[in-house]
Amino acid sequence: QARRHRHSHERYVDGQDEQHLRQLMLIRDLQEAVDNGELWMAYQPKVDTTTGGVCQFEALMRWRHPTLGFVPPDEFIGLAERSGNIGLLSDWMLAHVCEQLYHWKRQGHHLSVAINLSASDVIDPGLPMHISELFESYDLTPDQLALEVTESAVMQDVEAATETLMALSQMGLKIAVDDYGTGYSSLAQIKRLPVDELKIDKSFVLKLDTQQEDLTIVRSTIEMGHHLGLKIVAEGVENSASAEILSQLRCDYLQGYWIAKPMPADAITGWLDEFKP
Ligand code: C2E
Ligand code: CA
Ligand code: CA
Ligand code: CA
Repeated sequence: QARRHRHSHERYVDGQDEQHLRQLMLIRDLQEAVDNGELWMAYQPKVDTTTGGVCQFEALMRWRHPTLGFVPPDEFIGLAERSGNIGLLSDWMLAHVCEQLYHWKRQGHHLSVAINLSASDVIDPGLPMHISELFESYDLTPDQLALEVTESAVMQDVEAATETLMALSQMGLKIAVDDYGTGYSSLAQIKRLPVDELKIDKSFVLKLDTQQEDLTIVRSTIEMGHHLGLKIVAEGVENSASAEILSQLRCDYLQGYWIAKPMPADAITGWLDEFKP
């Protein structure tokens, strides 16, 4: 009995060591990932429920590690944030997305992309200037880039975040609160930020068609948000029943596997040509 106990304990510790080693490797290899072209962006469309057309794409980061294979962003983004390396990824991502928008424009597509900001990006007083320089270099207009920030990122330093977001908002960029409903902030708090959109977290949307509680939460969020002059996005729309419900509730924009999964950049123009509202 004691033997077995010790054995399982050792296995547990081994598992922890393995996990720890993987984390150290990932942090160590972030710079190489940027330098060696192991990162790319996937783009997922958002659809406007009043027109049925595509209004925007969200840019989502992807990493194929040379030995560990595909690493999910939920794993490496958090590690990069906690190890102080997220700036590396954000800088690469911003430049990469702006360059992509420039290529699309030369192909005749004036597209809009939303990017995800981390807490340290949103308190960086240099971010507005950095973005405005990128707009200059790649000949972009402010309607082509939007920002998604989580409540928790903003709440880490509300004052600094408000200042950065205010400057970006004045430049004409639209700002969405991501993962809305999973944090602790109230709509009253959010309304003091220069926010244009609420993005209802997918945990409330995934089973919207069968869960009465989720429906209640989503309905009241849409109503309250609209009263405050905010646009509402639902992420995680996986079936037509949920899409239908959200349209009836006057949700402004939909995003999810039912419309399309995140796609590599070179698939986007072809997908757009095929997509009929
Ligand atoms: P997020 O910003 O909340 O992104 C939504 C996630 O839901 C994405 O996962 C997306 O692929 C997934 N998703 C979209 N539609 C559906 C659906 O219908 N059903 C389900 N089950 N899932 C859906 P992904 O790409 O793995 O990204 C995870 C998180 O990593 C993102 O969550 C975001 O917080 C972070 N992230 C991704 N790229 C970046 C980035 O460039 N910068 C920063 N700071 N964070 C990023
Ligand atoms: Ca997002
Ligand atoms: Ca989200
Ligand atoms: Ca998230």
